[in-house]
Amino acid sequence: MHILDKISLYLIPDRATRNLCTPNATYSGIADISLWELWCSGIRGIIFDRDGTLTRYHSSHVPDEITKKLDEARRIGFNMCGLSNAGKARWSELEKLGNELGFPMLPSHPHAKPEPSAFFPAMDYLGHEPGQIAVVGDRIFTDILGGNRVGAYTILVDPFPNNCDPLKVRIPRWLENRLYK
Ligand SMILES: [Mg+2]
Repeated sequence: MHILDKISLYLIPDRATRNLCTPNATYSGIADISLWELWCSGIRGIIFDRDGTLTRYHSSHVPDEITKKLDEARRIGFNMCGLSNAGKARWSELEKLGNELGFPMLPSHPHAKPEPSAFFPAMDYLGHEPGQIAVVGDRIFTDILGGNRVGAYTILVDPFPNNCDPLKVRIPRWLENRLYK
């Protein structure tokens, strides 16, 4: 997307854009998501964002409460994977985290969330229809906008406290908080 289109999308949102930037549900974190409610509503696959959602930025530590929730999701029968906009230099981090969690952490490369094409490999991996997939993330302009564009159920979670966002995330997050929260 051209930079001017991005700026107008973010700063002068029309009604359609506002709808696309609105999550279907919000939780304070993964540990608080009501998994049975999701399952009963027909969701069968979950795509998790990494930075700020599963872990803090540049941390490989997944808190115990999140690990327990992922185990619970697995027992219920959800298929899961991760999807991250992390660049090539961090792909080994993604692979390592995926091995630890027991599902693949896919890079969105060569696309990037919120482009719909960034979600296709993750959706193919899960093998469910878009309406059976939940996208869970801490960013409106990437996870929620992209998840809504592909027709998934979108869940916005609060980023970890003291997430140490890099500057390229701090600015759009500041805008998201003022425009859409
Ligand atoms: Mg994130």
